[in-house]
Amino acid sequence: AQTPGELKQRTERLHPFADVAALQRTLDDLAARELVAVLPRRAGHKEHRWEQLLCAVERTDSAAGASGRVDNSGRVDNSGRASHLDGGRVDDRHGDEGRGEGRVEHHATVADKTMKIRNPATHEVIRTVEVADETEIAAKLKRARVAQRAWAAKPYEERAAAVLRWRDAIAANAEQCSQITTSETGKAITHSRNELNGVGERMTYYVEHAAAVCATMLVTLDDDLEEQITYEPRGVVAHISAWNYPYFVGLNSMVPALLCGNAVLYKPSELATLTGLHLVDLAHRSGIPTDLLQTVVGTGATGASLVTSGIDLVCFTGSFGTGRAIAKAAADRLTPVQLELGGKDAAYVCDDVDIPATAASIAEGVLYNAGQSCCAIERVYVHERIWEAFVSALRDAAGEWRPGDPLNDNTNMGALARDEQPAYLQAQIDDAVAKGGRVLLGGEMLQHAGNWYPATVVVDATPAMALMREESFGPVIGVAKVRNDIEAVEQFHDSEFGLTGAIFTADRARAEAFLQQLDVGTVYWNCSDRTTPRLPWAGRRHSGLGVSMSMAGIKAFVHEKAWHSRP
Ligand code: NAD
Repeated sequence: AQTPGELKQRTERLHPFADVAALQRTLDDLAARELVAVLPRRAGHKEHRWEQLLCAVERTDSAAGASGRVDNSGRVDNSGRASHLDGGRVDDRHGDEGRGEGRVEHHATVADKTMKIRNPATHEVIRTVEVADETEIAAKLKRARVAQRAWAAKPYEERAAAVLRWRDAIAANAEQCSQITTSETGKAITHSRNELNGVGERMTYYVEHAAAVCATMLVTLDDDLEEQITYEPRGVVAHISAWNYPYFVGLNSMVPALLCGNAVLYKPSELATLTGLHLVDLAHRSGIPTDLLQTVVGTGATGASLVTSGIDLVCFTGSFGTGRAIAKAAADRLTPVQLELGGKDAAYVCDDVDIPATAASIAEGVLYNAGQSCCAIERVYVHERIWEAFVSALRDAAGEWRPGDPLNDNTNMGALARDEQPAYLQAQIDDAVAKGGRVLLGGEMLQHAGNWYPATVVVDATPAMALMREESFGPVIGVAKVRNDIEAVEQFHDSEFGLTGAIFTADRARAEAFLQQLDVGTVYWNCSDRTTPRLPWAGRRHSGLGVSMSMAGIKAFVHEKAWHSRP
């Protein structure tokens, strides 16, 4: 952060400003575009200082580095990454060099206007960011409306070219993106990288297919009557995002929305804010106008203001409870909503499977991303004929997943993003044990700084247990025995959620007969926990409303206009 006087002196080589007033005008202009921000005046200092918002950078009043920071190159400084787990043992190496007791505090702004970003693996503050209030949201919306009209008037090819440049910028910055995401979500670094690896395919799919969705359809062409349908952008779309797959979730909305000619106000999850800011920064650098795609930073309160701001469509990804609150709030203005919500997804293991391979596949379906996938397997039903052998194989396979330093390439299970999640999971496990469940693996919260829970397998699970009813969103699994396929279907349907369902069997006909009966939006045979841009993603009942991904998902971002013409 520097004062205007300092900036004038130091930018001379790049651009000779006539005077400080000229520089100040440029700063004001950049501030309006959210590229710089002014910091509060320090006691005893005459001038305000300005900081850049181009990429994630820690706000600090000292030149001394603070731990877990993201520096200007986007590189995450590992020195302060404290909790390093090794087989459940914690090695607290805080790397507090240069800080000690005089540790730098990050929050320089008014408390109730700011939000702290913390590293869930250590609980250290990475950065403090300002949150948007209603007035700012209204101003952003106004600017977005102007930008949207200009954007929609551009040929599709121009919009697509900007999105492809954005795709390439993300690919070129993939490692930096992964580091930022891991620093604020606790996700294992290899899982962050895997997500980044999948981004290009998605963006390419949307670019290749959105033009067809937007194309005019002539349905009648007679001498005296023409009937046609045009597909118009909805206007300004709010995307309110989750943190668990911040790139997939965000881009699945933002990219088709932009391609179809909409503007986007994007509220990243409070648990993946730096990721969101960085993603949008890359978009702006790629030529996507700054007013067209804007971030709205904040917690749930900011999200709630966005929903009632007069926005044209709300695309939300998150929990059922929040989704329902959004649907209610949006109903006042009849604002359309798209809701991608949680699940309590089940898998059925038939008696004809390769037991070790299936156990390994299910363990991954449960434990990848520390169980924090909307479509993670959360309930397992096992055919009674292979019960003993299978649960023992599942315990062994799940035991291969161990919490560890999220930045270590060998870690397959990072920290949990939410502070309250370990206690929440412990309550589910305690409830299961009280109701007759047997813990085969894990089951006890790890006691040290950060949000940690071990891979946990509970057998003899029953429908009365919270573990089998409420979304866990963590590395825990309830396993129950069933007598046959009919009983398995009944158990699958004993849930308000309807996101996905899986069967593991060597028999295709048996799999198809089973999956046809499921009241869910996605079914898996011999796999789980996967999404693709080519297929629709549409949770049923408490798992969602509307469709994302695929051609159907792109269509959510346009509305039809019917033309009756008499030439
Ligand atoms: P969450 O519901 O707590 O928050 C999601 C977003 O909503 C955040 O940005 C939050 O700030 C915002 N928000 C909170 N209250 C709000 C309100 N009243 N009005 C408007 N916005 C509000 O969910 P989360 O913990 O971030 O994400 C985890 C959940 O998301 C899980 O339930 C998971 O299954 C689900 N999820 C679903 C999908 C899917 O595709 N179906 C994908 C990823 C995650």
